[in-house]
Amino acid sequence: MRELDPRNIAWKRMLEERTCPPIDILCNGGTEVQAHLAGCSACRERLEDSSAVYAVSRTCKNKRQSPPIIPGAVCRIKRDAAPNGIYANHSWHNPPLVLVLPIDTKIDGMLRVAQIHDASELAGPGDFPLTDNYADCFAESWNTWSAFVDTLEYRGMVSQDIAALVAARAHAPRPQIKEDTVEFWFRLQELKIGRFFGKIAKTREAEHPDKLTVLKAWTQKHVANFVNYWGCHFLPVEAVV
Ligand SMILES: [Zn+2]
Repeated sequence: MRELDPRNIAWKRMLEERTCPPIDILCNGGTEVQAHLAGCSACRERLEDSSAVYAVSRTCKNKRQSPPIIPGAVCRIKRDAAPNGIYANHSWHNPPLVLVLPIDTKIDGMLRVAQIHDASELAGPGDFPLTDNYADCFAESWNTWSAFVDTLEYRGMVSQDIAALVAARAHAPRPQIKEDTVEFWFRLQELKIGRFFGKIAKTREAEHPDKLTVLKAWTQKHVANFVNYWGCHFLPVEAVV
């Protein structure tokens, strides 16, 4: 029998992990789940074996004390961080693990994070292996985004040096990956998940009082400059004085 490429197996596993419905949603059924089941053999198997999976997911939910979330913390994005649910565009967007980076966002409660994955077969340029309890995982310096601290669930810590290394590469141009390779599709899917959760923080950021204050000051300054420069030419005299 022909042996499967381990990268293909890792890619298939990654797709299931990132885009298949969580076990409780799968077991509750519904139109979206039925549509998904029609095309996903992995979920049909998960559903058949749901009692065993439920048992595993319960043992994973051991409550941990949550220390302050600082750079180097490994966190899971909470599922309820997505106000409209994690189903969008015919796919689930399962919350990933992230590494908190030492990058200032200037917004109270907002942090910069790098997405984490554990398919080491698919790691490449710009990926940084995590050590300690996360030996198989790597942080994606090419896939960083913003998250609010109250949407993060603490899972553990890695060295702050690693967080600093990832942060230093976060603003570098994205490494070029050969198109139409498993690594390419892997990164595209990872960026899709990052965009989904990053957008949630962006929406909150736009409504944040700190941001509004900055925006108001910026608008006032620029409107004043505009009126000073152009007002006497275009505005009626009574509007300028
Ligand atoms: Zn599935």
